[in-house]
Amino acid sequence: MENLKNIIRDVPDFPKPGILFKDIAPLLQNKETFHQAIDAIAAQWANQHIDVIAGIEARGFLFAAALAYKLGAGVVMIRKPGKLPYKTYSITYQLEYGTDSLEIHQDAVASGQNVLIVDDVLATGGTMKAVIELLQNFNANICGLAFLAELAFLNGREKLSGHKLTTLMTF
Ligand code: 5GP
Repeated sequence: MENLKNIIRDVPDFPKPGILFKDIAPLLQNKETFHQAIDAIAAQWANQHIDVIAGIEARGFLFAAALAYKLGAGVVMIRKPGKLPYKTYSITYQLEYGTDSLEIHQDAVASGQNVLIVDDVLATGGTMKAVIELLQNFNANICGLAFLAELAFLNGREKLSGHKLTTLMTF
C-alpha cells in the first residue's frame, strides 16, 4: 500500500493559497496502482451484499463505477446542482466560506437497498456528512463509507461517527 501512498502528488496552493492538495491523478492513470486500489477497496467491502454504490462528483465517480462492477452492484451519481435531468432531492451544506449543494435522482435508491457511499478523499467530512443526509430521503441501509485516502489532521471522521468507514491510506 506504500506505493499507492507514494504516487499521490502534493500540489501546493490548490485550489486556494495555503491548501496542500493531494492529487490522485497519478494513481488513476497508472494501470498497476489503479487496479491495486480498486481491488483493495473492493476487498474491504466484499460479501456485504451491497446493492448500489453512490459516487460523489467527480473523482468519486471513478471509484464508484469500478467498485460497483467489481462487487456486482449498481452505481448512483451524486452530482452538483443542475446536472441531473430527472426529479432530484437536494442538500445544501456549509463550507468554510459560503455553501454548496448536491443532488440525487429521486428514484436512485429503492427502499431497503444496501448502499455504500464512495469518494476519493475524506478532508473535513462536510461533503460526506451532507451525502449521508441526502440519502435519508430513501428508506435505505447505509452500509458504510469508503475512501481512498483520509486527511486525518482535519478530523473529518468525527463528523461521520456511527458509520463504518474505510480508507486505504492516511495522511
Ligand atoms: P470535505 O468535505 O471532506 O472537506 O472534502 C472532501 C471533498 O473535497 C471530496 O469530494 C474530495 O474529492 C475533495 N477534496 C478535498 N481535499 C482534497 C484533496 O486534498 N485531494 C483530493 N483529491 N480531493 C480533495
